[in-house]
Amino acid sequence: MSNSFNIEKIRADFPILSRKVNGHPLVYFDNAATSQTPSQVIHAIVDYYENYNANIHRGVHTLSQEATDAYEEARETLRAHFNAAKKEEIIFTSGTTHGINLVASGFASELKKGDEVIVSALEHHSNIVPWQMLCEKTGAILKVIPMTNSGELDMAAFQDLLSAQTKLVFVNHVSNALGTVNPIKTIITEAHKKGAAVLIDGAQAAPHIKADVQALDVDFYVVSGHKMCGPTGVGVLYGKEEWLNKLPPYQGGGEMIDQVTFEKTTYAGLPHKFEAGTPNICGGIAFGKAIDYLNEISFEAIAAYEHELLEYATKQLLEIEGVTIYGTSKEKTAVISFNIEGIHPYDIGTIIDKLGIAVRTGHHCAQPIMDFYKIPGTVRASFAFYNTKEEIDAFVASVKRAKIMLS
Ligand SMILES: *Cc1c(COP(=O)(O)O)cnc(C)c1O
Repeated sequence: MSNSFNIEKIRADFPILSRKVNGHPLVYFDNAATSQTPSQVIHAIVDYYENYNANIHRGVHTLSQEATDAYEEARETLRAHFNAAKKEEIIFTSGTTHGINLVASGFASELKKGDEVIVSALEHHSNIVPWQMLCEKTGAILKVIPMTNSGELDMAAFQDLLSAQTKLVFVNHVSNALGTVNPIKTIITEAHKKGAAVLIDGAQAAPHIKADVQALDVDFYVVSGHKMCGPTGVGVLYGKEEWLNKLPPYQGGGEMIDQVTFEKTTYAGLPHKFEAGTPNICGGIAFGKAIDYLNEISFEAIAAYEHELLEYATKQLLEIEGVTIYGTSKEKTAVISFNIEGIHPYDIGTIIDKLGIAVRTGHHCAQPIMDFYKIPGTVRASFAFYNTKEEIDAFVASVKRAKIMLS
């Protein structure tokens, strides 16, 4: 573990962690929905609005230059982080959902009736619905990689689904509902053998695993800033230059054009072709700061510490009678989705909130996974590197208390 991993020092970076909820110290275990924000990122947001708020790329004045430089510096930070070959391959979006819709919309001109596209049973709704809309538009056929009881993808079934008709495969790197880490390198390699492109939804992986888009040879990789210590409303789409040049623009407007006349408009080059309108300038800059912050702690240290938390919490929860944990894949991030026999997840979530503990209950935007297990939802506790074993103790005690109250 890196020397820089000092939990007290890290926690001091997150002002929100010292607040109380319903008279109890906040225990924030809803990190898979959104992460908390360190002072370094909050200060970058304040600094932008206090000192150099201006529109970018057009102005000749000093503020506009400063804002443009900071925004483009953030793009370079993201390029380096994901090891993209070129800065032009990093498109700022409003988040993962936007990134997926941008690609899905672009593929309308790439697909024809009878083409096949492959999704997995483990997806977030935002990596299902845009592709269903694309299939409706083009007549392409949506195939689904099934999951196993442990919450892993059935890779033999995936091989069988691949064919000469397969044009595109879209799978998440890590499942937000179960924490399963999917074998994306194998998926990418096998899909490429059939000539299919691959989009990886990295929203849930990016806070824990540093992806190298060139080593993966992935065609598209999408993330959200708010899941990795950045603000909401900003994300990144990585796309191979070749694909980004080929796909049509997603939205028309300012910033994405070269020349506009009423007869014909020509588009700007990458990345501006996909960045119509005034972007979330402050968000992009703050996202860059969040990436710097995480890299300073180091992803190795984060993963090792979170794994400790996962093992510690799993062991304690399983000691409670009637607990079932969904998603027992060997490789998983620090997410525990569980139920207690005979008790509705919502009731547990409501009671432990009274004790200051924030977890998510419900289907986690992944209804097909809940259907697979034939349950309405789960209680999901998801940990981040700023959580502690003491917080897990408080959480487990609160679950025990809820169980007594509800049985
Ligand atoms: C959160 C999440 C999304 C959606 O991200 P937004 O920021 O809401 O666009 C998509 N996929 C996965 C796996 C997620 O965890």
